[in-house]
Amino acid sequence: MKATMISRHDCSARDLDDPLAPLRQQFDLPQGVIYLDGNSLGARPKAALARAQHVIMAEWGTDLIRSWNTAGWFDLPKRLGDRLAPLLGAGTGEVVITDTTSVNLFKALAAALQMQASDPAQAARRIIVSERSNFPTDLYMAQGLAAWLDRGYQLRLVDSPDELAQAIDADCAVAMLTHVNYRTGYQHDMAAISSHCHAQGALALWDLAHSAGAVPLDLNGAGADLAVGCTYKYLNGGPGSPAFIWVPEKHQARFRQPLSGWWGHATPFAMEPGFAPADGIARALCGTQPILSLALVECGLDIFAQTSMEAIRRKSLALTDLFIALVEQRCASHPLGLVTPRGHARRGSQVSFTHPHGYAVMQALIARGVIGDYREPAIMRFGFTPLYTSFADVWDAVEILRDILDTLAYDIAAKRDAVT
Ligand SMILES: *Cc1c(COP(=O)(O)O)cnc(C)c1O
Repeated sequence: MKATMISRHDCSARDLDDPLAPLRQQFDLPQGVIYLDGNSLGARPKAALARAQHVIMAEWGTDLIRSWNTAGWFDLPKRLGDRLAPLLGAGTGEVVITDTTSVNLFKALAAALQMQASDPAQAARRIIVSERSNFPTDLYMAQGLAAWLDRGYQLRLVDSPDELAQAIDADCAVAMLTHVNYRTGYQHDMAAISSHCHAQGALALWDLAHSAGAVPLDLNGAGADLAVGCTYKYLNGGPGSPAFIWVPEKHQARFRQPLSGWWGHATPFAMEPGFAPADGIARALCGTQPILSLALVECGLDIFAQTSMEAIRRKSLALTDLFIALVEQRCASHPLGLVTPRGHARRGSQVSFTHPHGYAVMQALIARGVIGDYREPAIMRFGFTPLYTSFADVWDAVEILRDILDTLAYDIAAKRDAVT
């Protein structure tokens, strides 16, 4: 099929028709920047500055320690978890915002292994299934936990999603999967895989780092068992903002995690010497949270509350379809390879292309204001965030990419920064 050529005018016309376009006004983005890295660090909600000032001056400065009660600091992980829950398809009292994704994954995986070990019918299982292409920290945390437990747990890593069904078998205790792959943008079928896990007697633990705020999620509807994810990516919580953990009501009574700090205690201020886990989601907490950073997560959630994940998904697919079509039309003579699935059901909210000089080309793009990022091997990654990316932005980004490629305006000896 020969696609018709798309013009910049077509893209601007789509912006005029876009119901999400006004939300861009709620973000502060520098002039001259097309920001296609919201999958790594979301842009700043304008409201975050005033919120930070209020927390620092009024809550901390004036009210001091009283703010644990009067400003609701102590309940913030649960209150914000409840605000995030609808975006995940989770229930009230099933999510807390706390700690980091790595730490929450450790807690969730430990709890899942413990749930299996305490069930005589499942206790012999020793395999944790994941993907070799998973984000490294997930694999590292699983390796660390398995070595620490020293009970013979082993990671079984598959090289392709097609191998998962076979790998999740009668020896598998937990499938620990990232729903949308950070490098390729491939999206798993959460419901199908979770149900396969259950048919085999395994548990399904999902990492939603590249899914939360990016694609519609239905954790309870999909029958997932546990989940974790970031708030600083598509949720625009700010650099290093605390992560989330979801423990569904059906598993809360059995959920025990090893980081049994006082925030997870049934009566933290009774100051008892023995640990007794709180009822409900609070048992997923450990200790005192970074309140300043945690408070700013709400500014991102306030923007999501003005739209729906369905509207965001519609625009996300339109943006990524447009980007793929424009790159293929305008950069056709260059050695670019699409690694993101074309099928909508299997695509997250990013598009990745390989290029033999991917790192150098990305550095040239960034120098000209088109901010994406680079991931080994040879992958240029472009994240699309419907809350603040326009259709004209997509046109302009591809035009700059075309110019860089046509004129060879990149330095193949470009020095690597520590963070690529
Ligand atoms: C971004 C990301 C993380 C980040 O973990 P941190 O503990 O926040 O550093 C973890 N897992 C996946 C799949 C990610 O994409």
